[in-house]
Amino acid sequence: MTLTVLMNAGPWLSVPPPGYGGIENVIATLVPELRRLGVRVVLASVESSTLPVDERIAVFPDGQFAALQRPYNQVCGVSQAHLAGVVRALHARDDVDLVHDHVEAVGLATLAAMGPDAPPVLHTLHWDLAKHPELYGNLDGGDRVRVNGVSASQLARAPRALREHSVGHVHLSTPLAVDADRRPAVAKGEHAVILGRINPGKGQDLGARLAHRVGFPLVLAGPVGPYHRPEDLAAAGDEARQNPDVRFFHEQVAPYVDGDLVRWVGTVAGQERDDLVASARVSLFPLRWEEPGGTAVVESLSLGTPVVATARGCLPELIEHGRTGLLTTDEEELGELVLAGGLLEAGECRREAAERFTPARMAERYVELYDRVRRGAARPLQLA
Ligand code: UDP
Repeated sequence: MTLTVLMNAGPWLSVPPPGYGGIENVIATLVPELRRLGVRVVLASVESSTLPVDERIAVFPDGQFAALQRPYNQVCGVSQAHLAGVVRALHARDDVDLVHDHVEAVGLATLAAMGPDAPPVLHTLHWDLAKHPELYGNLDGGDRVRVNGVSASQLARAPRALREHSVGHVHLSTPLAVDADRRPAVAKGEHAVILGRINPGKGQDLGARLAHRVGFPLVLAGPVGPYHRPEDLAAAGDEARQNPDVRFFHEQVAPYVDGDLVRWVGTVAGQERDDLVASARVSLFPLRWEEPGGTAVVESLSLGTPVVATARGCLPELIEHGRTGLLTTDEEELGELVLAGGLLEAGECRREAAERFTPARMAERYVELYDRVRRGAARPLQLA
């Protein structure tokens, strides 16, 4: 019997996303593999999504991401309108075997409130679970609603009620991991790279300060709030500083960006992104938060670039210290590790990625979880 899954991607960005879009990228990577395994996928997204699927549901014509810059009272109806469309569809049909939901907070709350006649739900937690304590701390989805994390460390810190609904974790994957061990080696440059949103949790300020202290070239790639190119940020003027990430960049990072030793190149995509990471001596993750999943980490391994990082969040699960990267709890030591990390073997990183972080591996694991959720056999994690 064919399994039909309603994949709820939400209203914020099309799938695949036009540029930056962590969750939408995960869905774009997962869905083709699920379909290869024989799963029928109904995608709930926006009309402009182009990902090949079996059926689509959409309330909005295009991604609503830009609306997130508006005040709460103007934006709070967006995800609700999308979820109302999903609920209408679920009431109108009886062929959906399971909903795989990726919509933060509203998806979980709405689908849990639907009651026992609704299909089983697996809600993937892509986020920092310290958020929404009132929602997560009081969750009651019975046997019908289950959650999964994107790392064990993320779930370990989750409120008890959320952990009681958990069927475990599934690490993130990347198409770059496919045959990563068979790709020819790439010539390495001198630079380290930090790939990610410019944000205090990602620690670009620390990385840039260490680059100057230790003396290694550093490339910062990623958006600053909604600004993807340095010229757009420069043109935005002072009003842009209302965005906390813009303020963080101007106050904490920009003083170290001299355009020579430390450069901010804006968002990079496609081949340009891959070349930048593949040619880097290491990828640096000077984290100040508990990184929940770390797509950029598994991408770096796939591209043969060792990872130097603060030992926080999922990093110790993804990186083997001394083989595929170097981890430390000492922020200052990170600088010296950038130099030492360049001596690790690119081939080890690529082999690890090809074995552990392919989309096929992720999809197989999700099919297992779909089965457990549907059988209602999901056991809660061992709680402390
Ligand atoms: N990314 C990108 N270009 C950039 C910066 C980041 O394509 O300039 C991508 C990166 O390759 C990864 C995603 O954005 O696929 C970031 O996901 P991650 O899980 O590392 O971080 P998040 O932003 O979700 O916390």
